[in-house]
Amino acid sequence: MFLGSLMAEHLMNTYRPLPVSFEHGAGAYLFDADGERYLDALCGIAVCGLGHAHPAVSAAICEQAQRLLHSSNLYRIDAQEELADELCRIAAMERVFFSNSGAEANEAALKLARLYGHGKGIETPQIIVTEGSFHGRTLATLTATGNRKIQAGFEPLMPGFLRAPYDDLDAIRTIAENSPNVVAILVEPVTGEGGIQIPADDYLAELRQLCDTHGWLFMLDEIQTGMGRTGRWFAHQHADIQPDVMTLAKALGNGVPIGACLARGAAAEVFQPGNHGSTFGGNPLVARAALAVIDTMQQQQLVARAAELGASMLEQLRARLGERDEVVAIRGKGLMLGIELDRPCAELVQRALQQKLLINVTADSVVRLLPALILTDGQAGDIVTGVCDLIETFVEEDA
Ligand SMILES: *Cc1c(COP(=O)(O)O)cnc(C)c1O
Repeated sequence: MFLGSLMAEHLMNTYRPLPVSFEHGAGAYLFDADGERYLDALCGIAVCGLGHAHPAVSAAICEQAQRLLHSSNLYRIDAQEELADELCRIAAMERVFFSNSGAEANEAALKLARLYGHGKGIETPQIIVTEGSFHGRTLATLTATGNRKIQAGFEPLMPGFLRAPYDDLDAIRTIAENSPNVVAILVEPVTGEGGIQIPADDYLAELRQLCDTHGWLFMLDEIQTGMGRTGRWFAHQHADIQPDVMTLAKALGNGVPIGACLARGAAAEVFQPGNHGSTFGGNPLVARAALAVIDTMQQQQLVARAAELGASMLEQLRARLGERDEVVAIRGKGLMLGIELDRPCAELVQRALQQKLLINVTADSVVRLLPALILTDGQAGDIVTGVCDLIETFVEEDA
C-alpha cells in the first residue's frame, strides 16, 4: 500500500496517518500506487464536494495557472471580485474577505466582532461560543472551540469568550441577562467534528431573534455545512434566517486552500483598510477554482441532489441499523451523516480501509460520512452497504 519510509521522520508529529497514500482520484474514487480503488465517503473531510479531479475545476486551475497565480491584494483581482459577487448572490450577503483556511475565516469573523464591539464603545467585547463546537486550531479559534482536548497545553487561552451548551437557548438568555459586553455569537448550524449534532428546528431562528434584541452579531461557522453539503447552499437556509457573518472554507475550492468570511449590514462595514489582510487570500488561482465549483454546482443542480441523496442514504441507514440497541442515533442533514454507537468505534476507520472504503469517526463514537455531492445512486448504495456491514460485524463481535 504505502511504499515510503515507515515513519515520516521529518514531518512534525501532528497526525497519525493511515498506512495508505493516494496517487490519483476520479469522482467518488481514490487510487493508491498499486492501482487499488477506494470508495471515498469522506472526500478529504468535506472538501472535495465535486469529487476528485473534477474536469471543470481542473481546467479552471490549469488555465489560470498558465496566466497568473498571484499578484497580491495590493492590486485588484478580477477573479476575486467575481467570486465575491457570486458568493454574495447565492448567500444574500454583502461583502467577503478571503482567507486560506477555515480557521483564518473564523479569525476574520472574531476580529470583525471585536472591532464591531469597540465601535460601539465596548472595550472588552465578549463572544458567545458553544460546547462541542469546532472552529479551528489557531489560538483564537481553539479557544472558541468547545473541546478541552484541543485546548489542553496551549494555555493561556484568549480572553473574551463565553461558553454555553449547544442547542440550549436558556443558557444564552442567561448570558444575555448577565453579560453586557457580549457583541456576537458564533455557532455551527450542525456540528461537524462534534458528531453531527443537529439542533432543534427553532434554534437558529431563536438565536437570530436574541441577536436582534441585544444588538449582537449572529455569526455562523458554515465551513463544513456550507456549499451544498446539507442540501441547501448554506445550512442556515433550512431555517429561513440570515446571519450577519458567515464563514466558509472546506468545499469552497474543492481542494485548493480557500476560506471566506461573508458579512452583511453593519457587519459588512466594520473592516477598513489596515484592519485585516492576507498575502495569499483570494488570489487568482483559488478564486478561479472556487468560481468553477459554484458554476458546476449550479449547472448540475448539485445542491438539490445533495438533499435528495442524503435523505435516501439516511433512510437506508435507518432501515438497516435503526432497530439495533448498539446504535444510539442516526442523524443527517443532506450529505452530512452521523451514526452514533454506544461505544468508541475509532477502529472502524481501519477496518473500512481494508474494505477499500474511506470513512471517518469523530467524537469517539460517531461514524461520520461526508461523501461527494456527485455520487451516483449506486455509489451511495455501496457506501450504505459497506458501512452497515462494518457496524453490524463490529457490534456483534464485541457483544
Ligand atoms: C474544518 C473546520 C474548521 C477549520 O478549518 P481549517 O481549514 O482546518 O482551518 C473550522 N470550523 C469548522 C466547522 C470546520 O469543520
